[in-house]
Amino acid sequence: MRIEPGCMIGFMGGGQLARMMALEARRMGYRIAVLDPDADGPGAQVADCHVEGRLDDAAAAARLARQCAVVTVDTEHVPADVLEHLETFTLVRPSSRVLRRIQDRLSQRHFLKEHDLPQTAFAPVQDAGSLRAGSRRVGFPAVLKTRRSGYDGKGQVSVSGPRELTHGWEALAKAPAVIEARVDFAMEISVLLARGTDGRIEFHPTAENEHHRHVLHTSRVPAGIPAELDVRARELGARIAAALGHVGMMAVELFVTRDGGLLVNEIAPRTHNSGHYSFGACATSQFEQHIRAICGLPLGNPALLRPAVMLNLLGDFWRGGAPDFGGVMALPEARLHLYGKSRAEPGRKMGHVLVMDNDIHRAAALAAGIDSALARPGAGGPRRESLAG
Ligand code: AMP
Repeated sequence: MRIEPGCMIGFMGGGQLARMMALEARRMGYRIAVLDPDADGPGAQVADCHVEGRLDDAAAAARLARQCAVVTVDTEHVPADVLEHLETFTLVRPSSRVLRRIQDRLSQRHFLKEHDLPQTAFAPVQDAGSLRAGSRRVGFPAVLKTRRSGYDGKGQVSVSGPRELTHGWEALAKAPAVIEARVDFAMEISVLLARGTDGRIEFHPTAENEHHRHVLHTSRVPAGIPAELDVRARELGARIAAALGHVGMMAVELFVTRDGGLLVNEIAPRTHNSGHYSFGACATSQFEQHIRAICGLPLGNPALLRPAVMLNLLGDFWRGGAPDFGGVMALPEARLHLYGKSRAEPGRKMGHVLVMDNDIHRAAALAAGIDSALARPGAGGPRRESLAG
């Protein structure tokens, strides 16, 4: 069954992903309802209807869902029980079953293991004994991650030796966690795919990602990887999406090891920061593609129109007040996206800049120039003459 334009689509959560999905859905003729505590959040600002409430507020979620032909998510941390209840009277995509499997890091790791998908060594941590036993199993250096609610490096600490173990876990408030072997990777990439209701899969170009302090800094496309590696990465992504029975966009973050192997780091059953480049650089953005998938429409053409680099704008740039983006806006290669967040905090994603150039190295140099110009507070934003490239 197709969900036709004119119908209402519901978003559980009103962050920047909901905002960009809503903007694309509106262009396609859909109406939008957003559940979020904040009436002035990035998603609610561009919605037809805002329902005030937290994601674990079952009654508010039901009020949202009763108006909607389909409900989707802005984050994988929507309680699966709430979604399961919504499924009794409306369509929910991705399903509560998919989110239940993914939102707990340990159950995600077990899913990968069950399906024989490559990943780093891991062990569960729930007390001092399992912390020590787990660290012996995975070795050092290691990364401790909370099982639930982690994102953008939150709920995550690096541990380089046994003496840091207890302190590291205390930094996570001794929450149930997973300890993983730290991977000495050559590169990080993400496979971006959409799976339709008929099981068909379309891939957006694989992105090459650079993280700073566990938070995505830049994505560049095309990724600097051999075609054969890309094929293997996409195969992994397709196996994961099919095994989950997923519908919608999905990102699979992968480590490329120094010997050319692939390890799955994380599955995100939704639109993803590393796919933001598609909003401007592809024939169909990941946001439109997600709407198409969950509405049962044919998937769009994900082809790359121009090589692109996406630079995240974190709240750190707002230290001395809102930056002057005049310089960025004057650059014909750059496109500024701001998410409408009124409060900036260090590490908070406030927006991104998309830089497109037929030469990916020039695009990367320009993005690096924008980054360093914005990092100099009071510099008045980047000027072409002060930028690399
Ligand atoms: P995550 O929240 O799991 O996606 O982690 C965010 C980022 O932290 C990753 O993209 C990596 O840059 C880094 N990271 C997380 N886990 C590991 C690991 N096991 N080995 C090496 N780097 C990691």
